[in-house]
Amino acid sequence: MKQKAVGVDVKKICTIDHACVGCADVTKSCCAKYDVCVTEAELNRIIPVLPEVSKYCSHLKTEDGYTNVFEEAEKGQYAIDTHENGLCVFAYTADNGLIRCALHTVEKDLSLPLGSVKPAVCILFPLTFSEKGNVLTLHDDALGCDCSSLRKKPSEDISPDLLATIHHFGGK
Ligand code: SF4
Ligand code: SF4
Repeated sequence: MKQKAVGVDVKKICTIDHACVGCADVTKSCCAKYDVCVTEAELNRIIPVLPEVSKYCSHLKTEDGYTNVFEEAEKGQYAIDTHENGLCVFAYTADNGLIRCALHTVEKDLSLPLGSVKPAVCILFPLTFSEKGNVLTLHDDALGCDCSSLRKKPSEDISPDLLATIHHFGGK
């Protein structure tokens, strides 16, 4: 299958340092700020690992199975439920007090590649696709959390976490 070419706004991306270690503050977490929708294919990759995910998010369990946390937002797109404070139901607080994604943690626990379970839109932040969808660039709110900061000195090196994201989405 022919891969879609993805452009990268290197100049803009190089203006920040970024490393996601998890958030201490719910109000700053990208897992609470945005409504996340998944495709049917993504939903079908999450459901089989709910037993592992619920080890971190026990609120997902019911007496005879698991809560349905997906609501069809539009055809083929399913919104993930949030708690009252806006935090995604797949987020949990790790032993160090930082908010983490249980889908990401389960990928690591099961030695699965990034994106096997975690939704693409979540892997992307603080990058985003341009309006036409062909260029990876910085999200408008990229500096909204302590995990990203404006570089004091210009650099042509992309932060390692962002480079990994660019490679994940086929950017060169
Ligand atoms: S990318 Fe930033 S805002 Fe999102 S979870 Fe990681 S540390 Fe928090
Ligand atoms: S699926 Fe994971 S990364 Fe995405 S919003 Fe929920 S907790 Fe955050």
